[in-house]
Amino acid sequence: MVIEPKIMNNICLTSHPVGCEAIVKRDIEWVKTQPKITMPKRVLVLGCSTGFGLATRISAAFSGGADTLGVSFEKEGSAKRPGTPGFYNNRTFDAAAQAEGLKAESINADAFSHDTRKTVIAKIKDFFEGGQVDMVVYSLASPVRTDPDTGEMYKSVLKTLKDPYTAFAMDLSGKLKSMTMEPASAEETAATIKVMGGEDWSLWVKALKEAGVLAQGIKTVAYTYIGSPMTFPIYREGTIGQAKLHLEASAKDLQKELSDLKGEAFISVNKALVTRSSAVIPGVSVYIALLFKIMKEKGTHEGCREQMQRMLTDKIYGSEGTVMDETGMVRMDDWELADDVQAEVTALWDSVDEELLAAKGDLEGFKKDYMELHGFEVEGVDYSADVDTL
Ligand code: NAD
Repeated sequence: MVIEPKIMNNICLTSHPVGCEAIVKRDIEWVKTQPKITMPKRVLVLGCSTGFGLATRISAAFSGGADTLGVSFEKEGSAKRPGTPGFYNNRTFDAAAQAEGLKAESINADAFSHDTRKTVIAKIKDFFEGGQVDMVVYSLASPVRTDPDTGEMYKSVLKTLKDPYTAFAMDLSGKLKSMTMEPASAEETAATIKVMGGEDWSLWVKALKEAGVLAQGIKTVAYTYIGSPMTFPIYREGTIGQAKLHLEASAKDLQKELSDLKGEAFISVNKALVTRSSAVIPGVSVYIALLFKIMKEKGTHEGCREQMQRMLTDKIYGSEGTVMDETGMVRMDDWELADDVQAEVTALWDSVDEELLAAKGDLEGFKKDYMELHGFEVEGVDYSADVDTL
């Protein structure tokens, strides 16, 4: 089948198996050019198939020499339809890691369920040397979660908390549309915390500990975003921000939980990047387009792979151990929040319109990143050729 991008409301509904494979291989090759990371060798990645989770896994394996077990929730490709990008990414990663003599396996299952926890625990015992893990990366991002105890399904919403907030939504060509976000109800905020807060991470760490599969010195990291005051109304001070505050508080509880293993539970605050979800958040997409151009001009721009490589090398497994700020979080957003970068984005923010965005924003980079997430617009891939979607 010949596969083309099918985009509706900024959401790409198709993926290209050959393009996805090429991107994963490209990132693996880049990581291999980086200095080796001295780190433990048994890593579990929850949310391993795309974005920050995949990048962490690639760095741990190809720069850190780690065996990795991944969990993600994918739609498999069928003869009629391509699967999700993560389906092809996982397959490419596993094959490439195994070809280098590393153990690698990806489990396709709902990470929010107790059954998946049981499957993963059984797998850890048999898959990793000594039946334990040294690092657990929590990189799930999902719009829905079914509570594993009650069976109730919760949906997250992207809304403000107090006042309506008007911002531009941007499509992939840089067209802007003003959108007003209404404040969330108490139930909507609670549901967002249920989905994207720390409850599930805590359930994972506690279950893994109880099963005796966490090694002494275990490190577990989950990812958050804080960002700039420009996006605070919709992100940090919105429903998603409440969920992130919950996640961040969970790190403190888990830190206590892991003290007898001399373990660490902490948060890494990552940079704003184009992902399938960030591309549709009004205000955030415009901020990212402006930010990227400025950071690229300054030579400080990073993608997921650069962020996660630097995080493991310098901030988690460097000579100083885990490097945290005064609030106990690892800061990978340090370059994004640099005063000069923020001053330049702020100077454009209030007067942004389509013309200014076209002149001053990195629309090309934004679109390319987005298309690449789905395996499109990848150099060297023949998009007119028939491809196997299975
Ligand atoms: P992503 O959408 O690229 O990846 C999410 C992963 O979670 C995928 O592997 C997906 O398959 C998996 N997943 C989703 N639901 C699942 C389920 N039920 N069971 C198993 N796996 C499931 O997301 P991302 O942007 O890499 O985000 C990862 C984390 O980083 C999130 O906590 C996010 O808030 C945070 N973060 C993102 C940004 C950004 O700009 N994108 C910035 C800072 C922090």
